[in-house]
Amino acid sequence: MPPGQFQPQVPPEGGGLVSPGGFANPGYAGYPWAGGPPPRTWPSPPVPPRRRKTAYKLIGIALAFAVAVGVVNIAWDLFTPDRTEVPVVENVARGANGLPEGYEWAGDLQEGGDRLICGPVTWELVGDYPRGGATAVAEAVALASQMTGVPIKPVDEVAIPAVEITFEYVPSSDLLAYSDTASADTIGLALTQHTSFGITESQVLLDEPYFVTTLSKNRDEAVLVILHEIGHAFGLGHSDRKDSLMYPYATGNTRIFEEDVAAFLTVVPDCG
Ligand SMILES: [Zn+2]
Repeated sequence: MPPGQFQPQVPPEGGGLVSPGGFANPGYAGYPWAGGPPPRTWPSPPVPPRRRKTAYKLIGIALAFAVAVGVVNIAWDLFTPDRTEVPVVENVARGANGLPEGYEWAGDLQEGGDRLICGPVTWELVGDYPRGGATAVAEAVALASQMTGVPIKPVDEVAIPAVEITFEYVPSSDLLAYSDTASADTIGLALTQHTSFGITESQVLLDEPYFVTTLSKNRDEAVLVILHEIGHAFGLGHSDRKDSLMYPYATGNTRIFEEDVAAFLTVVPDCG
């Protein structure tokens, strides 16, 4: 055989070599992995120190960022009022119409007149709703109950409701179709029906496109707009105080003022 040509070595007598770990090497001495197991790819080879340093740095930056975001959030919560918190009514000046100053009764109701009739008040959400739309209505209903002390129960829990409030998310065109006073800016309507004893039914229509956006960007505002419509459903009109719950425009900073609570308390019936 000419020199340089492949020439396997003869295995030792009795078979292959045995590695210290007991691995029986079927190969021949002189082969690349003779005398030990073939190189393994698992576990992964150690990361070179430089790459490891960069990784630690990135983890450090991510942790610092997370802590900073947490601190900013806590500070934000401490210094911004909870806009859906119901304030305590202490001393509220009233106008000639019996409501807190600057508030009106609902336009289609007689001044100082119609309120909900006495009896169980129920609510129901009908039709399709945007993501988060059902819980927003439930939250607004709970706030109205909290503000007035009037239980407002899901309609299927009450055998004979006295007042029924239904909520529906509708296309913008429906709002224009249902009310002469609605405009392209209208985001909600409450259509009330009443007997000589008071309001028996209210249909709250909510502008779906507005709520699709607002529920994801400014959820509190969306809840407070629904609560505003409940105010109308109870027979309450607008307030001229900016950012008030019953201000005619959703400012993005709507909140519940003490006067709003007083106004809600005034319109609900005294059934005692
Ligand atoms: Zn309004």
